[in-house]
Amino acid sequence: MEKVILIRVGEIFLKGNNKYYFESLLKKNLKKLLKTFDLTISESQNRLYIEGYSAEQETEIIETLQRVFGLHSASICLKVKSDVADIENAAKMLAPTSGTFRITAKRADKTYPQTSMTVAKNVGASILQSNPSLTVDLFKPDKEIFIDIRENRFTYVYSDTIPCAQGMPVGCSGNGMLLLSGGIDSPVAAYMMAKRGVRIFAVHFHSFPYTSTQALDKVFRLADVLKRYTMNIRLLIVPFTAIQEEIHHKCPQELMITLMRRFMMRIAQRIALSNQCGCLITGESLGQVASQTMDSINCSNSVVNLPVLRPLIAMDKQDIIEISRKIGTFDISIEPHQDCCTVFLPKNPAIHPKIDFVLKHETKLDIDALVDAAVNAVEIKDFNI
Ligand code: ATP
Ligand code: MG
Repeated sequence: MEKVILIRVGEIFLKGNNKYYFESLLKKNLKKLLKTFDLTISESQNRLYIEGYSAEQETEIIETLQRVFGLHSASICLKVKSDVADIENAAKMLAPTSGTFRITAKRADKTYPQTSMTVAKNVGASILQSNPSLTVDLFKPDKEIFIDIRENRFTYVYSDTIPCAQGMPVGCSGNGMLLLSGGIDSPVAAYMMAKRGVRIFAVHFHSFPYTSTQALDKVFRLADVLKRYTMNIRLLIVPFTAIQEEIHHKCPQELMITLMRRFMMRIAQRIALSNQCGCLITGESLGQVASQTMDSINCSNSVVNLPVLRPLIAMDKQDIIEISRKIGTFDISIEPHQDCCTVFLPKNPAIHPKIDFVLKHETKLDIDALVDAAVNAVEIKDFNI
């Protein structure tokens, strides 16, 4: 009797004629994420099976599967020859010690001598015989044992279903340029867009010497955690100090954040286009801070043409924190290193910046030259799985 992991694929089955494309991308991603394990992946009738792995690695394999976007759920199965006694033995091993149960049998192999009804009845009766304290409940059992008699002459017996990450395979929705700070929100935004199939590129603005190397290292570690879900991430690091100093010297302090954010968006768009990204992604959430009011968002949005996806826009902070804990970025995000946005933070940032006022002061800056200089100084760091 061998243990194998059955994997069910998620919503990509809805995709009609493109199904083959989604499936092959999912398998490619799956293989990449599992490449450190010694195992084989096979496929049969819309399901994938992981076999030949060592028992000690089972938990780690399941944890990895739970991070693969496009997978619906997994079950650890006992794989036996399609033989009456073997099937019965396997089902007994999964039977509960008390309470109620039901057997659900499915027979794809029509050459197997019993119908699925008979299999369910016989196996159920045999389990009851060895433990008379159990009861069968067909409608609301404490435990359901599934018997899948497959065409390959093997039967898979399992009971528990482990939920996986859902979503779509990373890469099927194109590339997106994430504005990645060291905070709580933007890593969660990356996770959510990767879940919809977006391959993540990231841009980070730093303000040496006002921000430290530890602040940058924190961003590296966030990317390292994120790549476990998003697959490879290319991070583009942009020096932002010169722009901040220029704004600081020439423009009203209340516009500091507004103008900084307009520069960030312009630079992010330039870098996005040269990396074949079809959108920008931010961790903005409406009303969370002064720079995320409707007026502020309009002000920063109006300098770019690419769509800006903001998956957290309608989320409460507590719900964002919950996801960041779940994906493992929270503890890194809350480390107290300064972000470039906090370095020149004015006492009273404009909460409802007026675009005419913004444009009037922005003319004091050589926007093109500042953007060019920043883009030309970009450093690249790849985070590969
Ligand atoms: P976060 O928790 O993601 O840092 P925040 O609540 O601190 O967000 P802001 O500082 O207003 O909010 O930033 C809003 C968004 O702008 C961030 O979610 C991120 O997408 C982007 N951003 C902020 N700072 C940086 C940075 N230094 N580099 C790249 N993107 C940034
Ligand atoms: Mg921030």
